[in-house]
Amino acid sequence: MSTLRPEPALDTAFFTAWITRAAAAIETDRVRLSELDAAIGDGDHGTNLDRGFAGVMRVLDTTSPRTPATVLSLTGTTLISKVGGASGPLYGTAFRRAGNALGDAAETDLPGLAAALDAALAAIRKLGAARDGDKTMVDALAPAVAALNEAASNGTPLLDALSAMVDAARAGAEATIPMQASKGRASYLGPRSVGHRDPGAASTVLILTALRDTAAAAGSDVGSNGSGSD
Ligand code: ADP
Ligand code: MG
Repeated sequence: MSTLRPEPALDTAFFTAWITRAAAAIETDRVRLSELDAAIGDGDHGTNLDRGFAGVMRVLDTTSPRTPATVLSLTGTTLISKVGGASGPLYGTAFRRAGNALGDAAETDLPGLAAALDAALAAIRKLGAARDGDKTMVDALAPAVAALNEAASNGTPLLDALSAMVDAARAGAEATIPMQASKGRASYLGPRSVGHRDPGAASTVLILTALRDTAAAAGSDVGSNGSGSD
C-alpha cells in the first residue's frame, strides 16, 4: 500500500518530533519495560531509559539543534550521561553514530535514514559484541535495519518502508522470548532466561515505532495543512 500524500521532509523538525515521540512512548511504557527487566535482569530498564529521555527532552527544549545530526548527537550524548547500565552507552553511542552518518545536511532521505540506522546497529554490535540470537536489542534492531535497507533499495515509499521496519523489529523482539541470553545481566540466569522477552528488544520496538508514527503524523499534517489544491 502506498500513500498519495507527499512524503514528509526528514529535516531537523522531523528528527526532533521522532525523539519527542520516543521519549513519550518510553515514559508511557516505563513500568512494562522495567517489569520485563525484573524477570531476567535487575528491573531498571524502563526507569533508566525514562530518566535518560526526560533529560534528552530538557536538552532539546533548551537548545535549538540546527541539523538532524545535531538532534541525534545531543540525544546520544545525553543518554550516555543519564542512563546507567548497559543500555545507556549502547543506545547513546548508537544515536551519536547515526548522527555522524547524516553529516551536516539540513535534511536526509530514506536511503540516508537507512544508512544512519545501519551505523547505529554497527555501533551497538561493536560496543556490546552481541551476536544475533544472544537475546539483546540487536535481535530487534538487526532485522529492522535489514528490512529498512531492503525497502530503501527497492524504492519503497517512506511510510511503507518504515512500517516494514517496525514489523521486522516486532517479530525480532517476539523471537527473543524462547532465546537463552548470552550477553548482559540476563546471561547470568542461563537457561532460566528462556521464556521472557528481552527488555532492550522491547524498547527498540518502541523507539522504531515512534519513528514510523512520526512519519505517519507528518504525512497527514502535510495532507491536511493546505487548501488541498495540490
Ligand atoms: P543493565 O542490564 O545494565 O541493567 P538495562 O537494564 O538498562 O541495563 O538494559 C538491559 C538491556 O541491554 C538488555 O535487555 C539487552 O537488550 C541490552 N544489552 C545488554 N547487554 C548487551 C550487549 N552486550 N549488547 C547488546 N545489547 C545488550
Ligand atoms: Mg537492567
